[in-house]
Amino acid sequence: MKKHTQFNTQVIHGGQSPDKAYGAVMPPIYQTSTYAQQSPGEHQGFEYSRTHNPTRKALESSLSHIEAGQYGLAFASGLAAIDAVMKLLKPGDEVIASNDLYGGSYRIFIKIFEPLGLRFHFMDLTRVDEVKAQINNHTRLIWIETPTNPMMQIVDIAAYVSLAKGKEIMVAVDNTFASPYLQQPLHLGADLVMHSATKYLAGHSDVIMGALVMKDPRLHEQLSFIQNASGAVPGPMDCFLTLRGIKTLAVRMQRHCENAAILAEFLKQHPKIESVNWPGFSTHPQHNVAAKQMKDFGAMLSFVPKKGNYKLAVQILSRFRLFTLAESLGGVESLVGHPASMTHAAIPKTQRETQGVVDGLIRLSVGIEDVQDLIADLEQAIA
Ligand SMILES: *Cc1c(COP(=O)(O)O)cnc(C)c1O
Repeated sequence: MKKHTQFNTQVIHGGQSPDKAYGAVMPPIYQTSTYAQQSPGEHQGFEYSRTHNPTRKALESSLSHIEAGQYGLAFASGLAAIDAVMKLLKPGDEVIASNDLYGGSYRIFIKIFEPLGLRFHFMDLTRVDEVKAQINNHTRLIWIETPTNPMMQIVDIAAYVSLAKGKEIMVAVDNTFASPYLQQPLHLGADLVMHSATKYLAGHSDVIMGALVMKDPRLHEQLSFIQNASGAVPGPMDCFLTLRGIKTLAVRMQRHCENAAILAEFLKQHPKIESVNWPGFSTHPQHNVAAKQMKDFGAMLSFVPKKGNYKLAVQILSRFRLFTLAESLGGVESLVGHPASMTHAAIPKTQRETQGVVDGLIRLSVGIEDVQDLIADLEQAIA
């Protein structure tokens, strides 16, 4: 297999070769649970589809290439991938994670793994010195999300890689919001990348899928053991769809980012808008970190209208015609969400508000439609 170093080529060809049976350019959807053996134990590398499936293998190979890793593993969802990572740890181990975390990640940490004996410290990861002071002999994992949701803060991945260096601490990055088009954490020295491939990787709001990518063979061995032993694997049809989505990741991300930059500027200058959170602004508190570790500034942004309260947010949200009011992000279509009542509803109001998630906050996942139409829809919704 030829190594392609350029990203636009990687997403299409990375780890891919025509199917051996008939030369199919896209891997067939191998909708099978088992494989015929010539004699006991004698087979073509596939025994049972929880362990291996050729369509999933093609996807996993693509994942490892686009994230600049050595190994990719696909899971039934982003949370199934996170679940597998947490199973690397044992009672007494400590995890440091962002306090501005995806709600489902927070939930699995607190409701599933804390009762099993893991300890979690939720911290502001933009304050590296405070995190450094929290590290002790039990710290085993630093779990990073950047940009964060929904405040679009940027965490300096390389800073945590140097903090963890020489210690038995793994640095893992949930790269869902950025996608490998914008940042490749393994290149920055992280040990593990996780994706909700449901979002930008698959990109068409038609599949639930998770992924892990790593370089270390021992880590791969442990995680693929867990993948098979726990069994949260995706089916071949979903692997096919995700692989197809990845082929256009680079062109989609380029347009996503262009549109978002235009909308961010539009909102910033709008007389009815109080504040806009987007790392592309030179006034964003971690703009320099974003410029250093990301290729562009992403297509997720959030804003608060002037005198923004719950009622006004609900009024604005119900006026959108082109933006769809929905959970999730990263699809070709533009989505709008209300963190206070949707993704962050489970977090107590006071805790939520100290992190900036006020009742008036509105989040956009900017799609790849014509930007004039998106501006017109925003304009009429906030007018
Ligand atoms: C959606 C999401 C997840 C969870 O992924 P699922 O595919 O929904 O299980 C994890 N992290 C982030 C940042 C997400 O946006």
